[in-house]
Amino acid sequence: MPTRLLEEEGHDITVFYANSNIAPRSEYEHRREELEKYAAMQGFEMIEGDYNPAHWEREVAPIGEAIKDFSPALGSKHVGDDTPQPESVAELLDDERRRERCRACYRMRLEEAAAKAVAGGYDGLTTTLAVSPYQFTDVIHEELLRACEQAGIAAHFEDYRPYYDEATRISRELGMYRQNYCGCRFSIAEGEATRAFIKQQRKAAKEAKRAAREAEEAARKEKAAEKQAYAEAQAKKRAILKAMREES
Ligand code: SF4
Repeated sequence: MPTRLLEEEGHDITVFYANSNIAPRSEYEHRREELEKYAAMQGFEMIEGDYNPAHWEREVAPIGEAIKDFSPALGSKHVGDDTPQPESVAELLDDERRRERCRACYRMRLEEAAAKAVAGGYDGLTTTLAVSPYQFTDVIHEELLRACEQAGIAAHFEDYRPYYDEATRISRELGMYRQNYCGCRFSIAEGEATRAFIKQQRKAAKEAKRAAREAEEAARKEKAAEKQAYAEAQAKKRAILKAMREES
């Protein structure tokens, strides 16, 4: 979706695939192949960065290791009982500790992309990260500006999240692979925790709906029984009055 919008703005696009964060390697390759097909279909040049998971492990993973026992998005099994539990996916994922880990991850990849763009003589740099509602868009913006300023290249930031549904629909129509986690090994567990959370929420909503339906039905039956009892009492009264009239 960002590529279509950028083309409409008159930009000539080259796609840079910089994803040392992705684990395992087979997933990295699968996503790269999908992007290659898409780039070929759209007529974009595509450049692949160095796949260097060891670099990512040095730069980012220590933050992930330090937070993993405390993050609700990582299952929260070690979080204290008095910790407020998330009530929405946004709350589940919007965790300050995760934010810092993802910041380090964006930083590493955007610095790589900015250096590559400068070396290649490009005019500016943007990022497709800004299309996902599951990312920290404000942090992406900050890190894009930082990386571009440091490298000496123009930053082109746009919040593409309003186009996320459209992008999802198009990728489905094209039969493209749709990943179910962000990329790093921590996000595999986060993806699972998120899906379990959504499942639990749906179950709770279904249960609440069923309970509301049952309460409504019980209230309806109670009202009907009251009506019936009133009708019977009235009929009894009328019968007594009739009998009294007949006697007199
Ligand atoms: S969740 Fe995504 S952005 Fe955050 S550290 Fe993992 S791969 Fe990087």
